[in-house]
Amino acid sequence: MDTNIAANTYSELFPKVISHAKEYGFVFQSSEIYDGLQAVYDYGQNGVELRQNLQQAWWLAMTRLHENIVGIEAAIFMHPTTWKASGHVDGFNDPMIDNKDSKKRYRADQLLEEQARQYELSGNTAKATALLAEMNELLKKDDLEGVRNLIMAEKILCPISKTANWTEVRQFNLMFSTKVGSVAEEATEVYLRPETAQGIFVNYLNVQKTGRMKIPFGIAQVGKAFRNEVVARQFIMRMREFTQMEMQFFIKPGTQKEWFEYWKNARRKWHQAIGTPDARLRFHVHDKLAHYADAAEDIEFEFPIGWKEVEGIHSRTDFDLSQHEQFSKKKLRYHDAQTGENFVPYVIETSIGLDRLFLLTLCQAYREEETTDEKGKSETRTYLSLHPALAPIKVAIFPLVKKEPLVEKARQIVDMLKLDMNVFYEESASIGKRYARQDVLGTPFCVTVDFDTIEKEGETVTLRYRDSMKQERVSIADLKEKLLYETSINRILEKLV
Ligand code: ATP
Repeated sequence: MDTNIAANTYSELFPKVISHAKEYGFVFQSSEIYDGLQAVYDYGQNGVELRQNLQQAWWLAMTRLHENIVGIEAAIFMHPTTWKASGHVDGFNDPMIDNKDSKKRYRADQLLEEQARQYELSGNTAKATALLAEMNELLKKDDLEGVRNLIMAEKILCPISKTANWTEVRQFNLMFSTKVGSVAEEATEVYLRPETAQGIFVNYLNVQKTGRMKIPFGIAQVGKAFRNEVVARQFIMRMREFTQMEMQFFIKPGTQKEWFEYWKNARRKWHQAIGTPDARLRFHVHDKLAHYADAAEDIEFEFPIGWKEVEGIHSRTDFDLSQHEQFSKKKLRYHDAQTGENFVPYVIETSIGLDRLFLLTLCQAYREEETTDEKGKSETRTYLSLHPALAPIKVAIFPLVKKEPLVEKARQIVDMLKLDMNVFYEESASIGKRYARQDVLGTPFCVTVDFDTIEKEGETVTLRYRDSMKQERVSIADLKEKLLYETSINRILEKLV
């Protein structure tokens, strides 16, 4: 594992990462001055940069590295029939249950999954497997009474009230709705999209025709999705408003198995390319397939709180396009000019949550290291070991002291670099403090202008590396090229070609 945090402390990392994210301008609670809105978060000045860099690494890997994948940006609002056709109006539900004493609401399936996890932890794997199998069987049959009976039989208690005073289990639709139109009677109910995929499906033919796309081809999209999650917790892991990065790959029916394998491998490779250790990644095969899928696996990451889904790879068959054909009465066929065949394409989907990816990135980059300061006192150095292409700030420029001509020279370096990368300038506080302030943000390089820069030949500055803290003299003339190379997104993309 390429982290210096011992395995036993890795599990303790989660609260540290959360407070780090808040303290250093990565993530804030939404409308915090009003005590926040549950499960809604805002990205701060550093978070927004990291997020955009992650998004770009995904977008370019999809669109620039695949000549048969193009992007779109569909609206959040869609015709309400879209969600009838997709199955979301009738089937996008979570089974929920309330505890009458604590008045807390839970997802019934998650209560049972937690119980199974406890069996697993105490070494009773057979019991855990049997419980999950029984639950899945009941959910498949929509037997909500059976699910409640199982919760009672397992003697599951509410973690807050410690009682088993449960309500019935009810289905709860996760879609948010609102009204469009100015007069109440004329208003139409519309939904905030619960996934970005449908915006791709309804545009499939527009893109195929206008782009003269030949199967196999893909359409990528990044955008907001909204889900009224019954239980939203664990920071930005489960939010009510979040961002998905989805790609739908349209293929010939019958080829779905090989394309499914292709995308599983391609996506795992991408995670490695952005710096995620492979030992903390695994595939999880879905026990219960969604109504549209003939195969589905998740890429899970070992978060400090356990293995969690980050991305789904789904073989969606021709379900979505066929449904839209039926509901819209418009043909969504592909005409193969070579064979003369007309068919509804099959689809392989890759769907990753940008916010979960962001959390993964922080968890795997967070480092605490014991060091000694100049006076020999031991202290903990905290830094984010982010890939330089992902780091919010690429380089910080410091005059050693706030004096001319050092300030002027440092300012000249800022001007030389600022069109090409995100540069930060600071002239107050000790150099050690200024380095430490950049370490916590994950800035990979710091440049210090000192008197040697001015007085000695060759105009050199000190270049300091974040992870190793190594320092070297570099000539100003070489600086831009070196930093551009090291911080370019191409250092990620080149691992994928
Ligand atoms: P989960 O089982 O965790 O609810 P899901 O299987 O419903 O997730 P998908 O519908 O496959 O998720 O969505 C694809 C990706 O979108 C997920 O892998 C996850 O990264 C992200 N995602 C889904 N729901 C949320 C949410 N409420 N908050 C943040 N990200 C989410």
